[in-house]
Amino acid sequence: MMKINQHGIVESLHVQCNAGNMFLNYFLYYIDGMLVDSGPKSSKDTILPFLETKEINTVALTHFHEDHTGNAAWLQREKGARIYIHPMSIEICRRKGEYPSYRHEFWGSREGFDAAAIRTNVQSDHYTWEAIHTPGHSRDHLVFINEELGILFSGDLFVTPKPKISMWQESIPTVMDSIRTVLAYDVKEMYCAHAGYIPNGREMLEKKLNYLEETYEEIHSLHDKGYTVEEIDERRYPTASPLKIISNKEWDSVHFVRSIVEDEPSLGRHVKS
Ligand SMILES: [Zn+2]
Repeated sequence: MMKINQHGIVESLHVQCNAGNMFLNYFLYYIDGMLVDSGPKSSKDTILPFLETKEINTVALTHFHEDHTGNAAWLQREKGARIYIHPMSIEICRRKGEYPSYRHEFWGSREGFDAAAIRTNVQSDHYTWEAIHTPGHSRDHLVFINEELGILFSGDLFVTPKPKISMWQESIPTVMDSIRTVLAYDVKEMYCAHAGYIPNGREMLEKKLNYLEETYEEIHSLHDKGYTVEEIDERRYPTASPLKIISNKEWDSVHFVRSIVEDEPSLGRHVKS
């Protein structure tokens, strides 16, 4: 399955990746000689023919996860593109990706590649994109903003307005702070790696922040009454999601609750070097 769309000057390629009978969406974005993230290796038979037709000078990576970096090695080798990422992830990207097997099934195996550091911005052929550090989903997470165009490439900052589950490495209070950071910028349209083009991007980010703030209050008030993290999880999220099962609990609502109870906004939790 694949679909190409044009939104003003942004072209998108939508692919679906599966493990067993579960499907996840991924959206690749091309604008002005720049590719935002490189997409999962598992969809290379769809993605590479799309990329072959393009002049790609710059690849701006929002974070090191394999669904975003899967074709970076190919882009470097075959297209001679310059690859950029947050400086803390240059080292991990030099090596072949190491992650649980269900992620290999969904996204494929990421080869190592050489990336250069993004400091404050990244350049496409005609535009400058501010790179805003927005940790929480991952420590290195960046979003790219051009206020003149009103465009935000949001990586995995948004994904869904009402999350109920998270990866064990994620920090929800840090995500909330990162959304507040982005809302200080003049952005309208949002391009999300898993939800696609969102014309009312600002509104949807505000919606997610409001939902997380309410959820934060509700979970803390249960915790103040003496409920444990596990009891709060059982009470609020009694049904296990398919992702929890397929990921062998790397994704779990209990991580979401624990992060809200325990984390201070920071560079993220349980950070592995
Ligand atoms: Zn990610």
